[in-house]
Amino acid sequence: MPPKGRIEVNELLCKGCELCVGACPQKVIALDMDRITPKGYHPASLISDGCTGCGICAVVCPEAAITVFRETIKVRANQ
Ligand code: SF4
Ligand code: SF4
Repeated sequence: MPPKGRIEVNELLCKGCELCVGACPQKVIALDMDRITPKGYHPASLISDGCTGCGICAVVCPEAAITVFRETIKVRANQ
């Protein structure tokens, strides 16, 4: 099973440049055209399941607006 993740976008920092949109290998980020940030941009947003928590979006974001959370799975050996 692929790892699961999610992102949070700080809308006070996001400037809607779409670098994260193009960089996400899972294609699960898009600009939210229904919302506008306090600075007047459409913010990046997670649009579907499939985020693996790879962190690429956070690396490419020039505003450091993305925080990535990755689910950790504990595997217990059979006794
Ligand atoms: S962590 Fe990876 S898979 Fe998840 S939204 Fe960012 S680039 Fe896409
Ligand atoms: S790369 Fe950063 S600033 Fe650009 S749209 Fe994505 S979250 Fe916003």
